[in-house]
Amino acid sequence: MAGASVKVAVRVRPFNSREIGKDSKCIIQMSGNTTTILNPKQPKENKSFNFDYSYWSHTTPEDINYASQVQVYKDIGEEMLLHAFEGYNVCIFAYGQTGSGKSYTMMGRQEQDQQGIIPLLCEDLFTKFNDSNNDNSMSYSVEVSYMEIYCERVRDLLNPKNKGNLRVREHPLMGPYVEDLSKLAVTSYNDIQDLMDSGNKARTVAATNMNETSSRSHAVFNIIFTQKKHDMDTENTLEKVSKISLVDLAGSERADSTGAKGTRLKEGANINKSLTTLGKVISALAENKKKKKVESFIPYRDSVLTWLLRENLGGNSRTAMVAALSPADINYDETLSTLRYADRAKQIRCNAVINEDPNNRLVRELKEEVSRLKDLLYAQGLGDIIESECHVSRGDLSTVNHAMTGMSPSPSLSALSSRAASISNLHDRIFSPASEEAIERLKETEKIIAELNETWEEKLRRTEAIRMEREALLAEMGVAMREDGGTLGVFSPKKTPHLVNLNEDPLMSECLLYYIKDVGRENAKTRQDIVLSGHFIRDEHCTFSSTIGPQGEGKDWLFSLINDSVIWSQI
Ligand code: ADP
Ligand code: MG
Repeated sequence: MAGASVKVAVRVRPFNSREIGKDSKCIIQMSGNTTTILNPKQPKENKSFNFDYSYWSHTTPEDINYASQVQVYKDIGEEMLLHAFEGYNVCIFAYGQTGSGKSYTMMGRQEQDQQGIIPLLCEDLFTKFNDSNNDNSMSYSVEVSYMEIYCERVRDLLNPKNKGNLRVREHPLMGPYVEDLSKLAVTSYNDIQDLMDSGNKARTVAATNMNETSSRSHAVFNIIFTQKKHDMDTENTLEKVSKISLVDLAGSERADSTGAKGTRLKEGANINKSLTTLGKVISALAENKKKKKVESFIPYRDSVLTWLLRENLGGNSRTAMVAALSPADINYDETLSTLRYADRAKQIRCNAVINEDPNNRLVRELKEEVSRLKDLLYAQGLGDIIESECHVSRGDLSTVNHAMTGMSPSPSLSALSSRAASISNLHDRIFSPASEEAIERLKETEKIIAELNETWEEKLRRTEAIRMEREALLAEMGVAMREDGGTLGVFSPKKTPHLVNLNEDPLMSECLLYYIKDVGRENAKTRQDIVLSGHFIRDEHCTFSSTIGPQGEGKDWLFSLINDSVIWSQI
């Protein structure tokens, strides 16, 4: 089978206020599936591209040509959801410069008819379950995870306990995955909505605290969707699992080498390693399709994003891409490069297969791997380690005696065992790197098995516990909660002085809050929110506080204080 091409859509948004202010001209034209870009400097130099869909959202919904959120969902989201029901992995990603409409297309806004692909798809998913409710042989379960990739590091947006960066690992059977990324069980669209919402808030808050903007990070929303069909006659249960990955990429502008210079370029290069690599992967895949003979190397491993999305890019997946475009002449270069990028993506072909009974097979294979690794370690005289470190019960010690006899270990494992054996003969308790690797892999594999064996009830309990922690943490950070636990929005915390929305990026639509509490030196006993140095600065120099007005409102005094240089010598 030749495989299906990546579906590619482009979408042009209305002018934003900045573009209107600059009296911009619209340089994008669309007709059918064709999108044409006009060069503002050479008006005769038009370039046209064909895509699966060209969405005209430059005007208002009154325009009959206007492509609404629902229209985009119906063409792309609905098709991908159907594939998910068939048991395929699917992926939709949005590409484009900051402010071009990626998040609007993927998430959209909360208002009526403004929701994007992700919420509409999730809603549809549960509608479809409910429609098939009278079919007793079918059962469905849904788990979600939501992560952010920033500077090649992965953050969990759904579990506040996972504060640091998560490790991206590769298991020989599982492929690449994010260790400890929380997968939360959901039972309704409402559940997903709340998770999405608090994930988006966590993203904004995290960006604020680290002085970043979320336009530089990639957000990956995963839905793991399992369907079980119970055959009443044979008593067999057939399972299909689909992973739906919905990706809102970082702004593409810094990936362009002609863009930022000097230190900003360096920073951009690091931040956008994933985006640069995505470009290389897409180009290499497009080249391969042209050449057909000698396949060029695809650098999936060069970035976290491409490594995790490996299957979605030319592998086992049905994939769609939406390229978001600014209509304005001032963005000509960026928009042209987005169109070229999208044009290359059309070439990619994916060979999707239906994921039937993957978990049963996986658990079986993982268990085989565990016994292989245990045998290996026992043979090296490291049985006591297994007992203390790897949760192995005494009964399992029986495996010692038939170590290496049953299954023949893979070449890499046997190489590993001979090296490790020579070390353990010396009764050296400092393990060789090879033994350490085997112990590590054993722990990793047992952890994966435990996760796969978790019952639905256990998953729900774990999800609930994380929800409570998340709520407490978000509330502390100034994110409002509804009675039912859903988030309302980032509110201005009344008691903590703060600056709102002081963002260098005028296109940034998210709200930013900067908390201001303690001012002092870096080496002060307690951590200072604002660190200053200089002769007159004390370790703990001053704190800001605000008085609450009669109606409970915070007094708007912050700017006057900041502009008043006397403040630094007041204490
Ligand atoms: P990005 O995620 O690419 O940085 P956004 O999705 O945040 O960009 O879009 C920037 C602004 O433009 C937002 O205020 C958004 O609501 C608005 N916008 C984007 N696309 C559209 C559209 N098709 N129709 C109406 N408004 C849009
Ligand atoms: Mg965005």
